Amino acid sequence: MGKRMFTGLQPSGQSLHIGNYLSAIKGVLALQDTHECILCVVDYHAITVPYDPNVLRRFTLNIATEYLAAGVDPERVTMMVQSDVPEHTELAWLMGCLMPVPKFEQLPTYKDKRARYGTASFGLLAYPILMAADILIYKAHTVPVGRDQLPHIEFAREVARKFNHTFGETFPEPEARINAGAYIPSLDGKGAMSKSAKNGSIDLSDTANTVQDKLARAVTDPARVRRTDPGEPHNCPVYAIHVCYTPQGMLAQLAQGCREAAIGCLECKRILAQEIISDLAPLQARRRELLARPQRVREILAQGAATARPRARETLSEVRQRMGLD
Ligand code: SF4
Repeated sequence: MGKRMFTGLQPSGQSLHIGNYLSAIKGVLALQDTHECILCVVDYHAITVPYDPNVLRRFTLNIATEYLAAGVDPERVTMMVQSDVPEHTELAWLMGCLMPVPKFEQLPTYKDKRARYGTASFGLLAYPILMAADILIYKAHTVPVGRDQLPHIEFAREVARKFNHTFGETFPEPEARINAGAYIPSLDGKGAMSKSAKNGSIDLSDTANTVQDKLARAVTDPARVRRTDPGEPHNCPVYAIHVCYTPQGMLAQLAQGCREAAIGCLECKRILAQEIISDLAPLQARRRELLARPQRVREILAQGAATARPRARETLSEVRQRMGLD
């Protein structure tokens, strides 16, 4: 098992949504047999915007629980919380000294969040260098991400190149791995599904009724004003989610039915709701079991940090030595 994979998810919501599941989590599941996998709940990233400490603590445990419920095997995957491995932040400082400020200001997520919160903390500006350090400290080759994270992976590659060029070959350039379901639109049709968009996401913890209700309110192709109006499935967020859940044969029938107005949006959404509900059922059963044993999840995270720290220290020691700090 030569290649190493790193992925991180922010504990910024009560529950992960199906977009996280189809991009990041399925990415880990696909690689856990062939790669050395490191999975990190990136709590230091979550504090770059206003937050509540008690809520953060709860979300951190919930997200770890959902990873495990989705099938991440702690025997094969090193799973930890970012703040339990403080070497990440030291490496971020060292790497940050290599990168010019305008590089940070150009990144789209910084611009988006600064616009959303009206102001930006230094942490929000520096976020990409911490993300680069998260990846580089394990010399990861592969990073499963959603498309919106591609600029950050490109930034991490640039950091690796800059370091290698300045101080000698040290880091592999990490490659982004985009999964088939990496772009899941929000149910309100506004960008990608996100934990912060109210009713824009279907969460892994949603009951069958909630999934149905959320889909019932989801926007569709605006051309389908009446049941008899033909539509174009590729203009519809509901169809984009169908692509990730619905078998090919049924998908082709739905697309044709939409274009010929042979199927209504309600029926189309009902079919999707069934697919999602059946897909989530086993995960939700395991999630309930794990929520009843939070100490078990804490032990897995502590063990993960104990496994990760010596590797992180090794890289940090090499970097410090190359930078003339040892
Ligand atoms: Fe979207 Fe389905 Fe309605 Fe077509 S029929 S607009 S794919 S919900």
